[in-house]
Amino acid sequence: MDFSWNEDQLSIKESARRFAQDRLQPEYQNNDNKHCFDRNVLKEMGELGLIGAELSEKYGGLELGYVTAGLIVEEISRADFNMAYIQLLAGLNGGIIEQFAQPHIAADWIPRIISGDALVAIALTEPSAGSDAANLKLKAERKGDVFVLNGEKTSISLAAQADAAIVFTRTGTAEEKAKGISAFLVPLDDPNIERTHFDDIGETIVGRGSLFFDNVEVPVENMLGGEGLGFIQVMQGFDYSRALIGLQCIAAAEVSVEESWEYAQGREAFGKKISKFEGVSFPLAEGETFIEAVKLLCYKTLWLRDQGKKHTAEAAMCKWWAPKVSYEIIHSCLLIHGHGGYSKDYPIQQRLRDVLGLQIGDGTAPIQKIIIAREKIGRDGVPY
Ligand SMILES: Cc1cc2nc3c(=O)[nH]c(=O)nc-3n(C[C@H](O)[C@H](O)[C@H](O)COP(=O)(O)OP(=O)(O)OC[C@H]3O[C@@H](n4cnc5c(N)ncnc54)[C@H](O)[C@@H]3O)c2cc1C
Repeated sequence: MDFSWNEDQLSIKESARRFAQDRLQPEYQNNDNKHCFDRNVLKEMGELGLIGAELSEKYGGLELGYVTAGLIVEEISRADFNMAYIQLLAGLNGGIIEQFAQPHIAADWIPRIISGDALVAIALTEPSAGSDAANLKLKAERKGDVFVLNGEKTSISLAAQADAAIVFTRTGTAEEKAKGISAFLVPLDDPNIERTHFDDIGETIVGRGSLFFDNVEVPVENMLGGEGLGFIQVMQGFDYSRALIGLQCIAAAEVSVEESWEYAQGREAFGKKISKFEGVSFPLAEGETFIEAVKLLCYKTLWLRDQGKKHTAEAAMCKWWAPKVSYEIIHSCLLIHGHGGYSKDYPIQQRLRDVLGLQIGDGTAPIQKIIIAREKIGRDGVPY
């Protein structure tokens, strides 16, 4: 087993870290009140090859592999948790488009995703279908060369600022459940699409919102994968994003631990550095242990994906465990900073709010555990 990074990985890791420290980290807290990304920063990130680096060279990607894409997510998230959504969604959605879109549609969208010119959201959740996503209702009816979309998606990241969304729709009957679902790439500049923005406690610059579709005509050629196969084919992309989410969350915890060691060595109580108290050093030592373990799990998952091996259970493990453990570590770090930790002067409270969203987004812990059980023992591990 070799746990070292190769030359190419070290080089992209270094360039991601430098860009993240110089350009992103100083703005992380300033962006806490903003509701959309600065497209110029995204373009800078794109020029450096930091968006969609795993995507095909044919479309302007670098084909650096999934492990390397994970390194970029980790480095970006250390400086700015929310900015790492850009890599995450570019990798997830760019990968789906690359695999399932018509070549000319992929050639139109992927280069713009990679350059930072286009943001693509993923729209699965509906008011009555979250965890039970196969129960979705948004209707797509074929009329000649188009499908006509009617219904609502809700809780969609980037809803108010994305240029397009991968939208999961019902093309079959409700009784068909997952088998009646098809996915489309839908440009969001259609006047028949209304968008709203939620007032969230974290991840404000990413933003969530609803998308209302009122007789929205989408060309048949915009379907991703086969008709009725949206759930079965396209959702496999989540096995990838779940490992990246793990790294995104744990990076925020790691930088919080680093700051806390430094703070604990500078702060005195009872005539000693507080780092000498086990009540301070042990939670940080535990945090270091969890960080190491989570990273190993996430990179192993990405390595399995690079090897073309099955990684559904591992991805679900990343998704339920990393956001939870990261939240707990960041919480400990906040407490170690005493009264100052509760103030907005430090970024720790913002990381806590931002990371919390991913205990829900992309599927809650119980749903991930059902996936793990299903992968291990089949339908006997599923409650329905
Ligand atoms: C920050 C954030 C970003 C998001 N981004 C997106 C996005 O970009 N695109 C998108 O489509 N969606 C997105 N979502 C929505 C997210 O995927 C859903 O909120 C999530 O899947 C849960 O669905 P729900 O909110 O409807 O909860 P419900 O499904 O109603 O669940 C409510 C509670 O019941 C529990 N529960 C449900 N079923 C079971 C079960 N079988 N066993 C045990 N417990 C169960 C859940 O764990 C949860 O605690 C985002 C959400 C958040 C918070």
